[in-house]
Amino acid sequence: MSERRAAKLVVASVVAVVTIGAFFERGADAQGQAPDHPSVTVRGQAYTPRSILARNMGTDEDQTTAFTPHKIIGNIYYVGTRTLTSFLVVTPQGNILVNSTYERNVPVIQRSVEQLGFKFVDTKILIGNHAHGDHQEGDALVKQLTGAQVVVMTEDVPALRAIKPGGKEHPIDRTIRDGETVRLGDTVLTARLTPGHTRGCTTWTMKAQEGGRTYDVMFGCSLRAGNRVTPENAEEFRRSFDVVRALPCDVQLGDHGAQFGMQAKFARIAPGAANPYIDPAGCKVEMEISEAMVRAILAEQAGQP
Ligand SMILES: [Zn+2]
Repeated sequence: MSERRAAKLVVASVVAVVTIGAFFERGADAQGQAPDHPSVTVRGQAYTPRSILARNMGTDEDQTTAFTPHKIIGNIYYVGTRTLTSFLVVTPQGNILVNSTYERNVPVIQRSVEQLGFKFVDTKILIGNHAHGDHQEGDALVKQLTGAQVVVMTEDVPALRAIKPGGKEHPIDRTIRDGETVRLGDTVLTARLTPGHTRGCTTWTMKAQEGGRTYDVMFGCSLRAGNRVTPENAEEFRRSFDVVRALPCDVQLGDHGAQFGMQAKFARIAPGAANPYIDPAGCKVEMEISEAMVRAILAEQAGQP
């Protein structure tokens, strides 16, 4: 094969991979693609795969417009868009960024970090919830702008390698397994493997201090099932639901703001009022919705009413 033809083939394959990646994300995460059945009711609220997806993603504008950057609790700040979350964990030794989201959002995140009075170049570590473009497509650009060490769950490596905006290789500096930690300053984040939505879906936990008390914070990974659930996938979800159920939690966060009612909680932030993000009773609602949905999909697939 000539070098030119080989080069053309490489370009064609890269385009194909990028297109398939984009298609997968559209199929998996874009509005209006999921079916409107089955329907489940959790704590009085009805959900379908389509309504969950619409709630998670919002409009194209919601996905790319900054949501007011603000303090969540302790050393954790919100720096994401209206529907795609990104968090900054601040330490005296530099900062940890959770979720780069889409590559086009990286300048949006950078501006939010700066609005809060922090420096984007102080980002020392980049982690994410799962290997879909709406959460980790921007990893290469964040790495390029900050030199941050990119830490990823081993089981998500193949899916991450397929996310190549503009043909850029996905940076991976350290791979971890279930239960391993990421440390910076006196902050320790523990990675829990909670697969199902992706193979390496990662729920991160840490402690945050506020008002002389210590709180358990959970950065939940999406537990949203795809249109079909294979037996292997069902087993992954079953284990993940058990893991999340058992996690101590005072403050629940997630890869989409709707998973933890971010906009409503933000609206309740007021001087002198209790921090609305401290909500142990609400911590597992998203898990309950996801679990009910997986069960309903499995029942539907088995031909049960
Ligand atoms: Zn996803």
